[in-house]
Amino acid sequence: MTTYIPQGPLKLKRFNGQSIETMMIQNYETVLSLIEYLESVGGKSHTVLPHAKWLVEQGETRKSKVMCYFCKDKPIQNFLVIFIKATGEMRISIQDTCCDDDRCRERLMSSEQFHPHNLLPLRFSSIVKFPHTKHRKRVLELFRQVFGIKSANGQTLFQFFKDQEQ
Ligand SMILES: [Zn+2]
Repeated sequence: MTTYIPQGPLKLKRFNGQSIETMMIQNYETVLSLIEYLESVGGKSHTVLPHAKWLVEQGETRKSKVMCYFCKDKPIQNFLVIFIKATGEMRISIQDTCCDDDRCRERLMSSEQFHPHNLLPLRFSSIVKFPHTKHRKRVLELFRQVFGIKSANGQTLFQFFKDQEQ
């Protein structure tokens, strides 16, 4: 954990004034590349690197506002990705989610035939598993629903990533 204290969304000149917050949603890989690059050049930036690292860390610990369908007791922590062979489509839906309880996982996984690798954690790092835009849109739509993200502007996203800090 870093001790960096973020003050607000951070816009980047080199990305036409786009904030790192919106990049977390629209171009997560670029945030990762930016961190990698800034670390490789020796961390000259006093704000961009800690801010980007803070956002990536926060993206791993967001809490679902929606409870598990099975136990109705714990927040959703996993989502199932169902590949439909006939159409080449992926089904990603709030209905195919569960908390981290083993019994709830089993109930979700037993409804059809699934590989355990089809169950992904509800974290921003899971985005990289979806290189195709149409699939990624589904994942982001699920995140929007589950996390209650109201808009994709920098300030709203900043608040979302800042809330629930441990
Ligand atoms: Zn549950």
